[in-house]
Amino acid sequence: MSKAIAIDGPAGAGKSTIAKMVAKELGFIYVDTGAMYRAMALYMLKNDIKPEESDKISATCKSADITIKHEDGQQVVYLNGENVNGLIRTEEVGNMASASSVNGDVRAKLVELQQKLAQTTDVVMDGRDIGTVVLPNADAKIYLTASSQVRAKRRFDELTAKGVECDIDVIEKDIIDRDYRDMHREISPLKQAEDAVLVDSSDMTIEEVANTIISIYKEKIE
Ligand code: C5P
Repeated sequence: MSKAIAIDGPAGAGKSTIAKMVAKELGFIYVDTGAMYRAMALYMLKNDIKPEESDKISATCKSADITIKHEDGQQVVYLNGENVNGLIRTEEVGNMASASSVNGDVRAKLVELQQKLAQTTDVVMDGRDIGTVVLPNADAKIYLTASSQVRAKRRFDELTAKGVECDIDVIEKDIIDRDYRDMHREISPLKQAEDAVLVDSSDMTIEEVANTIISIYKEKIE
């Protein structure tokens, strides 16, 4: 049977950086489910759909063909045959993803895809509902968090390094709003699974967090 580590937590907690390191160390495939919700959000934006138009979101998501491939160890997301990796990392797409991911039809479609991926491959999967809904039988479940100030500072540094001009207070407000939506939505809200281990990365280095998760996994499978 394939192995799975589920990592959930709020935006900017470092899930993807850590999950990639853990996957590499264990020889698992890293699956970034946020990228799938972002690809879906990009499709909604391309179709001029507003976050509040839930009927249109339900209807439109049916014609979005989202697939994931792993090329040279990197996850590539295809939206109707187009590689959209370079288009989904903007704040606009992130905010739309947070809004369109409350939709039950969007979630059902993407959860099915995520479960299929984990059936045949050893995965480190990150998102908001992996331990609670997508992979309830994962071998190890981690709830990774950090304070909103630390998360805003990390995103600010990331964007500044890319030459994007931004305001740290606006970023922190966006993070707090997004957390609120993710935690209070009706379907699959972000919450710590009962059997998940809480890891607060506010005062930890990336290596410390990755090593902590690998130890938790090894302990669980022993
Ligand atoms: O993790 P990332 O910021 O890329 O995710 C973008 C948005 O997609 C999140 O704010 C969240 O609303 C949504 N998402 C989700 N369930 C997941 C992964 C992401 O609802 N498993």
